[in-house]
Amino acid sequence: MSAIRRLPELIVNRIAAGEVIERPAAAVKELVENALDARATRIEVILAGGGIARIEIIDNGIGIPSDELPLAIERHATSKLRDETLVEIPTLGFRGEALPSIGAAAKLTLISRPPHQPEAARIRVAGGAVSDIAPSPGLPGTTAIVEDLFYATPARRKFLRSPRAEGEAAERAVWRLALSAPHVAFRLVADERVLFDVPVQDERARISALFGREAAASLIPLTAEREGVMLQGFIGPAALNRATGALQSFVVNGRPVQDPVLKLALRLAYREVIPAGRYPVAALTLTIPPDAVDVNVHPAKTELRFADQNGIRALVIGAIGRALATPVSLDLAPIATLPSMPQRQPHFSFRAPPPPSAPARGFAEAELGFHAPPQARLPQAPPETSYRDHPLGAPLGQILDTYILAQASDGALVIVDQHAAHERLTEEKLRAAFREGAVPSQPLLVPVVVDFTPLDAERLLAEAPLLARLGLEIEAFGPGAIMVRSAPAALKNPDAAGLLRDLAEDFAESGAALSLEARLDAALARLACHRSIRAGRKLAYEEMDSLLRDMEATPRAATCAHGRPTFLRLSESDLEKLFGRRA
Ligand code: ADP
Ligand code: MG
Repeated sequence: MSAIRRLPELIVNRIAAGEVIERPAAAVKELVENALDARATRIEVILAGGGIARIEIIDNGIGIPSDELPLAIERHATSKLRDETLVEIPTLGFRGEALPSIGAAAKLTLISRPPHQPEAARIRVAGGAVSDIAPSPGLPGTTAIVEDLFYATPARRKFLRSPRAEGEAAERAVWRLALSAPHVAFRLVADERVLFDVPVQDERARISALFGREAAASLIPLTAEREGVMLQGFIGPAALNRATGALQSFVVNGRPVQDPVLKLALRLAYREVIPAGRYPVAALTLTIPPDAVDVNVHPAKTELRFADQNGIRALVIGAIGRALATPVSLDLAPIATLPSMPQRQPHFSFRAPPPPSAPARGFAEAELGFHAPPQARLPQAPPETSYRDHPLGAPLGQILDTYILAQASDGALVIVDQHAAHERLTEEKLRAAFREGAVPSQPLLVPVVVDFTPLDAERLLAEAPLLARLGLEIEAFGPGAIMVRSAPAALKNPDAAGLLRDLAEDFAESGAALSLEARLDAALARLACHRSIRAGRKLAYEEMDSLLRDMEATPRAATCAHGRPTFLRLSESDLEKLFGRRA
């Protein structure tokens, strides 16, 4: 054994680089944060080769005086931290680690000019070796250029993903920072494509620009306060859910974060209104007294520690719950003014259907899996005779291409969510087939190859035997890729790639800890969802009728696989209450 010695600064910096800038996205984040700390009003980010080849960040901030350039790239050298207790940290940076870490692992060039300095100066660090300071042409502000990330630390370089995946992560980092600072103009260019170019704007306009107009149009504003903590932002209605959390942004005291406490609170707030494995859309901003949150938990500063986690969670869940319950349409206003309706929301009663009285029938294999119609035209008279034995009654029609209206034999109005209902029926049918052996499978005309992260591919392949019993046959196809050979026969024209991606997300979300049973449930629910008729599809009368009849014959048809009701029943007395005829 040799004697204990201090590690040389270069090694220390390389070790730090592993934590502070573990991938291009992290380097981009640190550099943009520096530009924001320098009070820039305009920041341009130019990426090449996913940020592995080159990152260039141009700001018009306060700059670095030429004689301070060597210090800027020194470890633990910062112009920012004033409060030695690490409580009051008004800037994004404070650890003085980013520039030396980047300089130790890559080739870093800083060109900077404070506004009063007549010209810019330049400094270079490559693999930790500093080159002399030289005058350079340059506008007021700072340009940071990073080339060949991790060329000096091959151990780290090996773990980089494809330029495309790294590029996406870097772009998302800029996206998050741009959301956190609408008062700064941002331009993002990747491999010569302009991804966004947004002026100084207000928060709502920034969110519209970065979430896309479709999502932005339906966002619901929200504000709430609890014990000195302010929450404000915008959330999407449940229907706006996405396959990933990509349209979620959290900002705490001006700092974009990816904090597990906040992510979980958001998920819980939507748990009952969106399917498992789907993600709500939200842009949330929290303002917390600095002594109630610790930002110095991780070198990358994307996680926080809240003094009062439960309080934060309650604030987020409560505010979202209220915002989602606010009727979006003014059409409901008359109800609110009724004396007997103290609440702004009409409360319907959710009732389980009476036990099925119709004889159980198999699920027909017609295109949509419906039975042949008992009659093909809308009934003209109340359906007392032919529908007496059918608790869900006779279809009256369809509204919004999503809900079936029916009249029950006791006169009650039945409203069926066609997608939720069909999803449940499909799931029960697949489950029955699974119990009996295996779900019939059909080879794809052309096998489909789907790319995943190696991790997701592993996870899916581990479930291959289970999926095969569900009629979905997959096999490895090179690193990170999976080939789909066949799909359940019940899925006509399956979107095999989409199905597999969704399944990967389901398995990733739930983790390996799940029992076989739970993984089976997840897979069944996902297959059912892919096979089921969509909301927004027009149904013929006979399709509506056979859907109702199948529901009556299927156990557990009153709720969908995600626990939401598949139908509502408004009895005569419910209607009387809604219209204020009765207290
Ligand atoms: P930190 O941001 O934690 O202070 P960094 O290593 O990121 O540490 O930066 C070191 C110092 O270099 C900063 O404190 C700041 O004084 C200076 N600096 C870095 N980037 C910029 C920039 N874009 N504009 C002005 N000054 C900068
Ligand atoms: Mg910094």
